[in-house]
Amino acid sequence: MHSFKRLRLPEDGEAIKVEDGKLHVPDKPIIPFIEGDGIGSDIWKATQAVVDTAVHKAYDGQRRIVWLEVFAGEKALQTYGELLPEDTLRAIEQFIVAIKGPLTTPPFGGHRSLNVTLRRELDLYACVRPIKWIEGVPSPVKHPEKVDLVIFRETTEDVYVGIEWEMGSEGAKRLIQLLKEEFGVRLPEDSGIGIKPISERATKRLMRKAIAYALENNRRSITIVHKGNIMKFTEGAFAKWAYEVAVSEFREHVVTQQELEQGEGVTKDGKLLIKDVLADNMFQQVLTRPEDYDVLVLPNLNGDYLSDACAAQVGGLGMAPGANLGDYHALFEPTHGSAPKYAHKDVANPSSMILSAAMMLQYIGWKEAALLIWEALGTTIKAGKVTQDLARQMGNGARALRCSEFAEELVKCIWSFKKGLNARRHP
Ligand code: NAP
Repeated sequence: MHSFKRLRLPEDGEAIKVEDGKLHVPDKPIIPFIEGDGIGSDIWKATQAVVDTAVHKAYDGQRRIVWLEVFAGEKALQTYGELLPEDTLRAIEQFIVAIKGPLTTPPFGGHRSLNVTLRRELDLYACVRPIKWIEGVPSPVKHPEKVDLVIFRETTEDVYVGIEWEMGSEGAKRLIQLLKEEFGVRLPEDSGIGIKPISERATKRLMRKAIAYALENNRRSITIVHKGNIMKFTEGAFAKWAYEVAVSEFREHVVTQQELEQGEGVTKDGKLLIKDVLADNMFQQVLTRPEDYDVLVLPNLNGDYLSDACAAQVGGLGMAPGANLGDYHALFEPTHGSAPKYAHKDVANPSSMILSAAMMLQYIGWKEAALLIWEALGTTIKAGKVTQDLARQMGNGARALRCSEFAEELVKCIWSFKKGLNARRHP
């Protein structure tokens, strides 16, 4: 048990524990939350109201989340005088599962991304994004209902983690010199330099997680997405190691595309299909043949791009949930940023954060409550009750609600459901 500098732990509630390789979730788990910057306070209030209602309704008041506010970003600066206090990291570490709002990162200098620091400090190596359309949400594609993807993106490596040296710095000069003298590689003197490490261990643990998820959730295939044709020892190795995990650790449950094409008499036979696609082609495939893809596994940077491109097909970042997962630790978060121009105006769309909370409920095994949230969002949006970002794309039938009004509609909708909703598949 950590001792905290400023956090006051709630008097009721218990910590989620990991025992025998499994999460043990009490009826009143303590779950830390970070409100977030910009629109964070508006969307958090909406999320908390919806989640508390869904949990109460699903379990007749027998279960309840005991929320513990922890601080990062602006609010942490006011409370602790620093952007990411040790208390916050230790609380998430201790209570295992947490949720956060968006945090602002200044571009071109200033502090490094707090999101990246949180992932690194807590070793949350898989960023998971389910991408599925909710009926009624405006979409730029003709058949958004064909998109049903879950993206597993590695988050501790690759150029994305920012190991880099500024043009003209001592480090850049020395590296340019070293590359020339030791390796015969000539770079322009006025180069900034970034490093792209991709390791066997990080790749394999990501793939292991994706396969476990795919098997548990009866998904059809996993596609490894990479640029191995160009970057053989990073992206190419990523694909190679991912295949190795599949065939060496999950042999009975998987079949590879190559085995299907070349092996005599080999059939899919209910197994999980493992295939790979080059990243540039994948951007095309998700638009032209989304129904051929299911779980996607990617290195950090391409995973970042593809996650947002796919989210756009089902209504944009305002509608896409996300989670950062470690072996057991999990930090759920909306996929959009702090949208400063809408801060404290009560107009932001809270759906991404609400869906992230539903994902969190699923993660702790409270599937009935997650289902209520998913269904309430579908029903409310279909009735044309949406926030301004969706209303402006939907035309006549839609009413632009404030963020808080939208949450009230969801709460009403959850209370109106009869017991025993049909458990339709949702991510
Ligand atoms: P952003 O905050 O996601 O906002 C970009 C635009 O997306 C907004 O202007 C708005 O579009 C729309 N939008 C995003 N979320 C919305 C919501 N919930 N409801 C309605 N509209 C929404 O991206 P950004 O402006 O590039 O980044 C702002 C800050 O957030 C930056 O400091 C960035 O580093 C940070 N960020 C944080 C995270 C995170 O915490 N995980 C992720 C991404 C970015 P319209 O203007 O078209 O209405």
